[in-house]
Amino acid sequence: MFDNKITAPPNPTTSDSVSQASSSEPSEIFSPAEFLDIARDDNSVTARAAKLFKTTPETFVNWRWQMRHQVTSLAEAREWIDMNEAESLGFSKLDQIFHAGVTPYYLSLAKQDTSSQLCPIRLQALPRVEELNDRYGVSDPLLEKEHSPVREVVHLYPDRVAFCVAQLCPVYCRYCYRKRRDNESGLHFNRAIIDRGIEYIASNKAIRDVLITGGDPFIASDGAIESLLERIRAIPHVEIIRFGTRTPVTLPYRVTQRLAKIISRFHPVFVNTHFNCQEELTLEAKVAIENLVNHGIPVGNQAVLLKGVNDSYERMHALLRGLLMMRARPYYLFHPHNVEGTEHLRPSVDVGLSIMRKLRGNITGFAIPSYIIDTPSGKVPIGHNHILGRDGEDIILEDVRGEIWREKGVFTPNFET
Ligand code: SF4
Repeated sequence: MFDNKITAPPNPTTSDSVSQASSSEPSEIFSPAEFLDIARDDNSVTARAAKLFKTTPETFVNWRWQMRHQVTSLAEAREWIDMNEAESLGFSKLDQIFHAGVTPYYLSLAKQDTSSQLCPIRLQALPRVEELNDRYGVSDPLLEKEHSPVREVVHLYPDRVAFCVAQLCPVYCRYCYRKRRDNESGLHFNRAIIDRGIEYIASNKAIRDVLITGGDPFIASDGAIESLLERIRAIPHVEIIRFGTRTPVTLPYRVTQRLAKIISRFHPVFVNTHFNCQEELTLEAKVAIENLVNHGIPVGNQAVLLKGVNDSYERMHALLRGLLMMRARPYYLFHPHNVEGTEHLRPSVDVGLSIMRKLRGNITGFAIPSYIIDTPSGKVPIGHNHILGRDGEDIILEDVRGEIWREKGVFTPNFET
């Protein structure tokens, strides 16, 4: 059923860009004080996880150590956590199909109890045998390859591009719609790809918005990220720069004050991250978000609606409230893409619509994300429809309590768009 066999798993310890940058930057801080402060509390995730992984908090908050100790196999996973049958089979049967990889930090958020089939952290991060059964999943649901005029630059909307400079991720999310890139290698901060991408953006004056994504573009040295930003910012017609990164969720220690300070030199820069459930809203994640926001970098959140993770009103409400407390503004709620191996994680769209309907009126308006189905020709908002009809110049609405309301005289007769 799947034909995208992995040719060479990425190795963060040997990746050119990561290691090159490490040697050229002796001053980069790998055990940032802001995270060590948290570790002083014995009950913090960091303190407890460092003990579990038999290391010191100073080492545990080093993001490069986390990448080097990514859990990628069944044997490694079993060292730290009990595995249930679906996960064990998943690791062995999917070994050659999709990457598995989880940072010690993110794994430490998982419930240890294997009887709990619905641990939302496990569902997102650990392979499961159900991934072998998918009736609708395809490898490139957004046809990104067709929309890439040059390698790893997706140009769908006229004014913006997604520049996929990264291939490595701290956690390989089981529902990722870029899983297809698993079977390639050498894409991570690849100089030739970056050079061609910069050339393309510079030669196309309609592009005013560049989204740096991947993979996870924060998995690079401060120097590599700075150099990329310098090159993009030097293009006069680029107005805004955005990052898509899941590091605040999967590897918060990467989001240091130092990195945020570097990024802030290239404003306006925006960061979108990707929390999916309240279990991910740790103190460590909060510090990562604070580091960005305190440097004037607005942070938005793009969640994916996932079965067993956030597919109830109560869990979505808790996630959105927690995000606001961290100052990460909910932005999109994506209905999961039809990407291969994810049918067991895809809820009915009825579930999403029902959650959206209940949110309205029960949480502040700017906490409510746009519910989106992403298609090859762009994002389509699919929230609950409150418009019941039109009566002359009046509009008939369903209000947030489910009652009918007539707002008079809001339509212009004979209006033409
Ligand atoms: S962090 Fe993003 S790019 Fe990486 S696997 Fe997860 S969803 Fe995909």
